[in-house]
Amino acid sequence: MIKENNYIWDNWAGNQSCLAENYFEPETEEQIIEIVQLAVKNKKKIRVVGSGHSFSPIAISNEILISLKKHRKLIAANRDSITCQGGMYLHELYTIMKTNQLSFPNFGVINKQTISGALATGTHGSGLTHKSLSAQIEKLRIITASGDPMEITRDTLWKINDKEFNLWEAASISLGLFGIVTEVTLKCEPLFYLKSEESVIDFNEFLESMDDYARCYEYFKAWWFPHTDKVYLFKAKRIEKDQYNKKDQWIQYTEEQKKRDIEIDILTTPLFVKSNHNPSIIPEINSYCLNYFFTPRTKIGNSFEILVHEETIPMVVSEYGLSMLNNNHKKALKEFRDTLERSEQKIHFPIDLRYTAAEDSLLSPSYQQNTFYIGMCVREYREKKTHPSMQLFFEVMKKYNARPNWGKLSDLSKIALEEIFPGINDFRELRNNMDPNGIFLNKFLKTFL
Ligand SMILES: Cc1cc2nc3c(=O)[nH]c(=O)nc-3n(C[C@H](O)[C@H](O)[C@H](O)COP(=O)(O)OP(=O)(O)OC[C@H]3O[C@@H](n4cnc5c(N)ncnc54)[C@H](O)[C@@H]3O)c2cc1C
Repeated sequence: MIKENNYIWDNWAGNQSCLAENYFEPETEEQIIEIVQLAVKNKKKIRVVGSGHSFSPIAISNEILISLKKHRKLIAANRDSITCQGGMYLHELYTIMKTNQLSFPNFGVINKQTISGALATGTHGSGLTHKSLSAQIEKLRIITASGDPMEITRDTLWKINDKEFNLWEAASISLGLFGIVTEVTLKCEPLFYLKSEESVIDFNEFLESMDDYARCYEYFKAWWFPHTDKVYLFKAKRIEKDQYNKKDQWIQYTEEQKKRDIEIDILTTPLFVKSNHNPSIIPEINSYCLNYFFTPRTKIGNSFEILVHEETIPMVVSEYGLSMLNNNHKKALKEFRDTLERSEQKIHFPIDLRYTAAEDSLLSPSYQQNTFYIGMCVREYREKKTHPSMQLFFEVMKKYNARPNWGKLSDLSKIALEEIFPGINDFRELRNNMDPNGIFLNKFLKTFL
């Protein structure tokens, strides 16, 4: 097992870093247990890092840091489930799934995270009938704070005094607080095929019709290009395999468009770098990119080809989930647009607009509510200090009781977490009981848990 002292770790976006006293890359579960026992003996805190794709300081530790990059093998691929070790990267998992003609019902946008990292923060995609990736968890094997292996399934109950808790509901979006995930079993479905249509509409028309689109298309998301008043729609429906096989007859996705999609990062990176010194050019960049790169098209592909993308250029991202009751989500989106246009702030595209179905994980932004997510980014920004445009976004989201995505940036200090996450006290009680000495806590998590 690799061990290093005084190890410097940075996340993918470059906005979070830490200096860990000890860093380990264990290969076996026995070695992971040894590290937990060492931490208990020396009263040290442990965090596991996945691939560092969280923008929040959720993974960092100044004491013991572990990476499971050497613990990432496939264990079993069955007809309706897949089991792998906790450190497997999503792109590796997806390759195995494709080979076995398997799919998840939905995916987060990219494939570079580790499976345990993606599950720990509730990584989600978009579709009003689809929950986050964590909803696929059949079984988690963890090493608990006492150094013991434990298996958690949907029916695992945990008793504290006379109160019984469903442990799956807490551990499925765990923030890494219940133990080190060494093995995961996820429910799958047969690989499926999609026809995706992309087009542009006006912002006001989008506000009127967004929920109708979300109900009509199983997969629906949108990118608002701020300062242009235009929204780019991604709508997709399932098709039969024989339609997929005849895809050349259907597809309206030209070689020129494909070439531009590949070029987009190379061509736009210098523009974003420049715009961080001169934000007044951002509206023009957004407008140019919309017109040049985001032209209407129809694509046919399997679920991975349509819903999963390669990584993008560095950026920091914030995302909040909003209740759809009484049009709360539409009011929040409109207020964000109006506030932004009144302010001096300029924001890079896209404002990512997505839907996710209500689910049971206690810390999910979609806990017991169908949810509309608004995500914003600042590209090529690696500073620790919150960007002022993001601060503006936080302020509007707070007014609408929006729930933060744990892997992304948010202002938790200003939020009454008990009010917006009705399950948080159960989560806290379980965490306190399972890890009374807080060996899996870091400074960031300690402030609100
Ligand atoms: C370009 C980009 C696109 C993204 N797209 C989406 C998206 O579409 N939807 C969405 O919801 N999110 C998205 N995210 C956020 C991302 O999915 C999450 O932040 C995810 O947690 C990152 O996974 P990771 O492997 O990098 O984990 P890290 O960021 O390294 O860690 C995340 C958490 O997982 C814990 N953890 C990791 N491994 C283990 C383990 N084995 N046992 C216990 N705890 C563990 C860590 O301690 C930490 O708390 C995106 C991020 C980026 C950079």
